[in-house]
Amino acid sequence: MSEIEILQKLVSFPVLGGESNMSIITWIQEYIESHGITTHLVPNEAGNKASLHCRIGPAKQGGVILSGHTDVVPVEGQDWKTDPFELIDGKDGKLYARGSCDMKGFLACCLAALPEMVAADLTTPIYFAFSYDEEIGCLAAPELVNHINQHYDEKPKYAIIGEPSMLQPIIGQKGICVLDTHVNGSAGHSSRIRQEVSAIHESARLVLWLEDKMNQLVADGRVDNRFNPPHSSLHIGQIQGGIAPNIIADKASFFWDVRTIPLDKATDLIFEFEAHCRDREKILRNIYPDFEITTRQHHPPVPPLDTDVNDDVVAFTQSLVDNPTWDTVSYAAEAGQFAEGGFQSIICGPGSIAQAHRANEFIEIDQMTKGVAMIKKLISTLSN
Ligand SMILES: [Zn+2]
Repeated sequence: MSEIEILQKLVSFPVLGGESNMSIITWIQEYIESHGITTHLVPNEAGNKASLHCRIGPAKQGGVILSGHTDVVPVEGQDWKTDPFELIDGKDGKLYARGSCDMKGFLACCLAALPEMVAADLTTPIYFAFSYDEEIGCLAAPELVNHINQHYDEKPKYAIIGEPSMLQPIIGQKGICVLDTHVNGSAGHSSRIRQEVSAIHESARLVLWLEDKMNQLVADGRVDNRFNPPHSSLHIGQIQGGIAPNIIADKASFFWDVRTIPLDKATDLIFEFEAHCRDREKILRNIYPDFEITTRQHHPPVPPLDTDVNDDVVAFTQSLVDNPTWDTVSYAAEAGQFAEGGFQSIICGPGSIAQAHRANEFIEIDQMTKGVAMIKKLISTLSN
């Protein structure tokens, strides 16, 4: 099958982050096994989702992992001109579908090159590592990485994460953690502003505390000019609470995220915020004894990627795509998790992140062709 035929198949599985991916992963598994390669599934506890990994080539040290995720983001509320789960050739050099660019295009390039990988006389192995639930906090990657480390005696050396980067090698990525904070105050007539604790007023203070904290990081010199913005960001994206102008709100909540540069740890920033919340509770319980602030993390923090420009994987990947430059990105991906697993990691994949997560997502056919060319170059570099 060509890369476009495979992409057509992959986008027809409407697997969103959080949903069962067994349909798409089973199809991928059968495709790979039909080429004589043994695959391994890493299921979740409920058994309704699974990552997949496999090795093509000899059991030797120093292999290269090609990594991608099988889930996509929702299409609800977006103005799609075509069926998002059908690959449409726009006759404008672009292929339209949800996931075409983020990141089933890369998976299709890997799978299309599989017959050539199998036929080649590889002296160093290539691994596939395909995950689920990437789009809701990179949930599956840590276990997949662990499994790879435990399963193979001969360790892979590099991991190339094929997130859309227009095949530009990406050596840095910000980390992320998504949280929600709930404030429990006391309701009452709005004239009783001194006797009650407004959850809205307190939420507003916390929001400003987070913004001040972000500015303080910059003032303290915690900047990394490879990124834009060059500092960790704390952003509140949603806030709710209250019933009427003349009622003091007893409940308010806000949703926020922390995007960290490699210099900062999300857990440290969250710890500081929590400490501040405990201080506020101590003060406000003098007025309302049940006053409480609770914060919940939606997922464990996703670590940033901080690959050194002198690490071998950088020059290695630059040669695969014939591009001697590198860049960084501010979106989160699984690359930091592969790096924590002990593999020199880099992001490099076909398509542009500018097309990801939007209506009428597309990948250029030219990018698909170049994606396959990158993998063919990988095969020739690793074979006799
Ligand atoms: Zn992605």
